[in-house]
Amino acid sequence: MKVGREQAGKEFVEDRSDGEHVTHVPLLDLRMQYARIKDEVREAMDRVLESQRFILGPEVEALEKEVAEYSGCRWAVGVSSGTDALLVSLMALGIGPGDEVVTTPFSFFATAGAIVRLGARPVFVDIDPGTFNINPELAAAAVGSRTKALMPVHLFGQCADMDPLMEIARRHGLHIIEDAAQAIGAEYSGKRAGSMGTAGCFSFFPSKNLGAFGDGGMVTTNDADLAEKIKILRNQGAEPKYYHKVLGGNFRLDALQAAVLRVKLKHLDGWTEMRRANAAFYTSGLRDLWPGEPKVVPPPIRHERHIFNQYVIRTGDRDGLRDFLSRNGIDTEIYYPQALHKQQCLAHVISPHASFPVSEEASGSVLALPIYPELTDPQKSYIISKIKEFFD
Ligand SMILES: *Cc1c(COP(=O)(O)O)cnc(C)c1O
Repeated sequence: MKVGREQAGKEFVEDRSDGEHVTHVPLLDLRMQYARIKDEVREAMDRVLESQRFILGPEVEALEKEVAEYSGCRWAVGVSSGTDALLVSLMALGIGPGDEVVTTPFSFFATAGAIVRLGARPVFVDIDPGTFNINPELAAAAVGSRTKALMPVHLFGQCADMDPLMEIARRHGLHIIEDAAQAIGAEYSGKRAGSMGTAGCFSFFPSKNLGAFGDGGMVTTNDADLAEKIKILRNQGAEPKYYHKVLGGNFRLDALQAAVLRVKLKHLDGWTEMRRANAAFYTSGLRDLWPGEPKVVPPPIRHERHIFNQYVIRTGDRDGLRDFLSRNGIDTEIYYPQALHKQQCLAHVISPHASFPVSEEASGSVLALPIYPELTDPQKSYIISKIKEFFD
């Protein structure tokens, strides 16, 4: 399939090599975003190329300051990925064998993977069906004598219900590590994702709202000692150089990624507003369709600023709808088809009787629609009309 006739990202009708025209709406298309910031990005990358300083350094330090400010935190430490942000935060807090971390089974694998890689045990509790996020009442009940931390995930760009979680943490002296990989700029009671817990973990994977040209991540915190520990851990635990007090690793962020991210960060609020407008467009379109008993449940919005890394609907015949949309050129995705307590590699740390019905139901009914900022009104209308057509 050749790329369409119009400029990158604008095509909706693509010319196929056999001369046929096909309608195609991708789940995510970053080409238009790049086209608009190309000059700025190239200039920033050139700056790094001229300096020939590729690892950490001034670009990373500047990005750390900017992300800390953006997220309402005192400190931010650039790391190699969102996964490593989670891992190094747990390491810095000394979480390991014998410790438990209460978290959600409805997330990307890295959330639980980081806990298990350190020899600690994830204690899953089910989600709130309204937000897809950890249910605080169930979290309170899961805290035991080995619990060291809570790890809520701000899934799809909406903050978990942090007030009750912070109350639990205060009562039991626990840390909160926010998995904010999907939630940069999301707000809860006026506070930004990543600023409420002991540490906030961000990912700059290209499909996140602030995406690098490769892998990258960041840990935010208001604790100066913790930030210092993470800085040492990300650089092989060395302080000073070649003197290794603690066992760290290579979790460094590189300067080219930081330079790109600094350019993109300036545009992030604009892109977030476009995502939110796209979400409102879908939600009103879908609501108009089925007053009363809805065949499609749009994502509920509980807290002030949902940043819509994903727009996830729920529907009974999810697989049928997905197949129908795919046949009509509309790409969708399932986040996530298998809950974490059912993952084969975690079986040894999970009770065989573990059951989280809300998460399991979500795995069977969720469908993410294209939501990227540059999506056009005709594209969204086309998607809404095809969803209608499927249920008619
Ligand atoms: C993307 C993501 C991660 C991992 O981030 P990477 O940068 O890909 O390592 C962790 N948790 C959640 C919820 C994510 O969406």
